[in-house]
Amino acid sequence: MSADSPHTATSTTSPGAEYADTASAAYRAALQVVESVEPRIAAATRKELADQRASLKLIASENYASPAVLLTMGTWLSDKYAEGTIGHRFYAGCQNVDTVESIAAEHARELFGSPHAYVQPHSGIDANLVAYWAILATRVEAPGLADAGAKHVNDLSEADWEKLRNKLGNQRLLGMSLDAGGHLTHGFRPNISGKMFHQRSYGTDPDTGFIDYGAVAAAAREFKPLVIVAGYSAYPRRVNFATMREIADEVGATLMVDMAHFAGLVAGKVFTGDEDPVPHAHVTTTTTHKSLRGPRGGLILCQPEYADAVDKGCPMVLGGPLSHVMAAKAVALAEARQPAFQAYAQRVADNAQALADGFLKRDAQLVTGGTDNHIVLLDVTSFGLTGRQAESALLDAGVVTNRNAIPADPNGAWYTSGIRLGSPALTTRGFGPDEFDRVAELMIDVLTNTAPEGSSKAKYSLADGTAERVNAAAAELLAANPLYPGLEL
Ligand code: PLP
Repeated sequence: MSADSPHTATSTTSPGAEYADTASAAYRAALQVVESVEPRIAAATRKELADQRASLKLIASENYASPAVLLTMGTWLSDKYAEGTIGHRFYAGCQNVDTVESIAAEHARELFGSPHAYVQPHSGIDANLVAYWAILATRVEAPGLADAGAKHVNDLSEADWEKLRNKLGNQRLLGMSLDAGGHLTHGFRPNISGKMFHQRSYGTDPDTGFIDYGAVAAAAREFKPLVIVAGYSAYPRRVNFATMREIADEVGATLMVDMAHFAGLVAGKVFTGDEDPVPHAHVTTTTTHKSLRGPRGGLILCQPEYADAVDKGCPMVLGGPLSHVMAAKAVALAEARQPAFQAYAQRVADNAQALADGFLKRDAQLVTGGTDNHIVLLDVTSFGLTGRQAESALLDAGVVTNRNAIPADPNGAWYTSGIRLGSPALTTRGFGPDEFDRVAELMIDVLTNTAPEGSSKAKYSLADGTAERVNAAAAELLAANPLYPGLEL
């Protein structure tokens, strides 16, 4: 295990090992209480820890939050309703929630160098919905009200309201396409974002797999969107946000960056300058639970002109804030401000590189030919498999991944031709480049020993002994890098 694992005694990022005995006692007591009411829930909770400890987790969007973050969520802060914002609540008695929310927002502003932070969104999708609403409110509703000489939509005549509603519903959004690595909420037509806006997508260069900024600029000039969305779920490369902002400025668009996947690399100062979205975007959204290693949740950072509208997220878009989760966000953000988190983030990037190199030297195909973030997108067509078959065979061998479309995927979004891999979770366990190289070797072992069955895109067979061999090798790697060392239930 490496020295910067958050659960080692030497770590200052997430001091799990320092307080492992106390955390063990807390969890044992908590589970005993749960057991006395619904034993099946206590059993499933214990089993989840055992399963997480026993699997080689390569899901790019998952991580392991520290016991401090997890414990923070199990309190009576959960019981308080606190619609509104700090100091302006629709309920009485929110002084402690105000304290919690202020601390979380302060950590977020300081960590990311942003003038404003809103920590209430319950998830990444919720953060994006609030951001879209805030952009529409700032760019369309406010000038519409001013034109009509009104302060509030309730003051508008029916005719003026109808005019404004038509305007709000007729704006344009340009985002990264799903098969190039964008997220559903970046304008995918079946998603609410593709229905709120007239949408158009940009993809990646068919030859290199990289974003073609010239093509993005041409699409923006032609389409003239109100919003350009940058950010991704499955793109294994860095993005130049300064260039994206230039494109947005040229066409008068608001640049929104969804850094849900790579927020940990921004927080850890791996992505700086043009690769740090926060100074370039008007609005930046994120999840807090992926590479950032916090509780499940969302977060919005924005320039001052969007702050009022963003702060109206609850109750205009969101339900009441989850105060216990905001508290856990504060703890996670405090951890991310420690120097050990920067070392962690750098290792996430180095380990992804080692994983990619491990595949390339064994002649596997990677989308874009490699990685320079935390994601590796493996093209499994050269193994004669679909993503679905590869994902299932890997799971049989104890390797947890998810299938993912690749650009212009011949197998579509359900069966796919890719496997998306990420380094954040195993890096938290203490894996280094040697272990990630070994992971690539084990995965190649599985994939070369998997054959499709007939013409099915789902059925497959694994050569005898493969699952046992790889499971045993994975167990060795996991035993050497335990999850939550010292934590005993
Ligand atoms: N944005 C991006 C880029 C994502 O990858 C994801 C989740 O995978 C989300 C938003 C949605 O996050 P959540 O599941 O917390 O709503």
